[in-house]
Amino acid sequence: MNTPSHAVVNLSLLASWQPQAILPIVIGAVLPDVPMFVMYFWAKQVRHQSDRQIWTETYWTPFWQNMTHTFHSIPLKLLGIAIAHLLGWQLLEILFLSALLHSLGDFPIHNHDAHRHFLPFSNYRFISPLSYWDPRHHSRIVSLVEKLLVLVASFYLFPILDSWIARTALVAVNVAYLSGYFSRSITRKCVQAKIQHEIG
Ligand SMILES: [Zn+2]
Repeated sequence: MNTPSHAVVNLSLLASWQPQAILPIVIGAVLPDVPMFVMYFWAKQVRHQSDRQIWTETYWTPFWQNMTHTFHSIPLKLLGIAIAHLLGWQLLEILFLSALLHSLGDFPIHNHDAHRHFLPFSNYRFISPLSYWDPRHHSRIVSLVEKLLVLVASFYLFPILDSWIARTALVAVNVAYLSGYFSRSITRKCVQAKIQHEIG
């Protein structure tokens, strides 16, 4: 899923149960994708690479693949939950729980770019017939379902959030999704570059 979707879905699942943990839930929802953002920022701002080079070359180098897959590892999240629980650090436990939900949310909608879900114990990757970004693997339907899921979750979530910053961000995410901003600008560039990588 797109990163903002993870934040909205995770908040809708966890925030009413843990209203004091809005920030840890959001951080946990975003955390697995952090290496990708760092990679993009470094490649773009420091190395001055084009989007095409970033998504066809840099993203696929072993270092950035290992980072992305490690941050998406399910066992490492379970370990984090267990350690935080034993230490009695509840907010950290919720953060790792939210990060675990991110990994589980990605599981069924990644095709050839599937993560190694069970690092460091196994290199197994579930190659789903569905993809959230690749039109050759039903991304149009998957992304429609993702947007509807975010919209429904947002209606549920809006009254629970008591900060106007959070409410504004929630509306902004939905406006961006429903106006097609994501698919027109960001995602399309990535889709084309990733497909070129696979074909090339
Ligand atoms: Zn992810």
